[in-house]
Amino acid sequence: MSSYLGSLGFSYHKMKKIDDKELDTVCLDKESLLNRLRQEIGYCKRCELYKTRTNIVFGVGNPCTDIMFVGEAPGEEEDLKGEPFVGRAGRLLDRMLEAIGMSRKTNVYIANVLKSRPPENKIINYMSSIDICLPFLLRQIEIINPKLIVCLGTIAAHALLKIKEPITKIRGRFYMYDKSIKLIATYHPSYLLRNPYAKKEAWEDLKKIKEMIVKLREVESV
Ligand code: SF4
Repeated sequence: MSSYLGSLGFSYHKMKKIDDKELDTVCLDKESLLNRLRQEIGYCKRCELYKTRTNIVFGVGNPCTDIMFVGEAPGEEEDLKGEPFVGRAGRLLDRMLEAIGMSRKTNVYIANVLKSRPPENKIINYMSSIDICLPFLLRQIEIINPKLIVCLGTIAAHALLKIKEPITKIRGRFYMYDKSIKLIATYHPSYLLRNPYAKKEAWEDLKKIKEMIVKLREVESV
């Protein structure tokens, strides 16, 4: 995982305790690396989804955060605006974040597995695009280097964990991503809109996420 940053001369894994000034520098570096990655993606035609998309949806939020939310792919509104989670599902995600004291404006970063919208949101018809696009997400994770990744839905969890179990089996449990980052999966907000009875389980997951973040920050401050 350190290959991309290493090639650019960065190693955030080695940065354990840093003061505020150094933190500002690290954050600016992360922002700059993300901008470079976005430039590298350019007007991407690496898979067939470029033919039908309006905008590439790269990611949004605080690059200096310690928690990253990963969704599946842009929907119609995201495709039009170029920002992840801005439709109905996005508004639900914002409420979920607010419930645990988080916000895309201040302390989380949000990105998708696919950066271009699959026609009619049918990712299942474009699974080969995931292998082609995934390296961009992996590099976003490498740059941000969060303490915790929250996968929203099956596609994101399967892409990062390389497992095949249904979301009902894997949600609410902590895994390790790349040996050093905690990862938990929960339901995608779109699923919750279609299946409101699952909101109770999603709320249990959110409470675990909040508790884990507190714990991880305590460990770091020791
Ligand atoms: S989905 Fe990813 S790989 Fe495919 S065109 Fe969009 S940015 Fe490129």
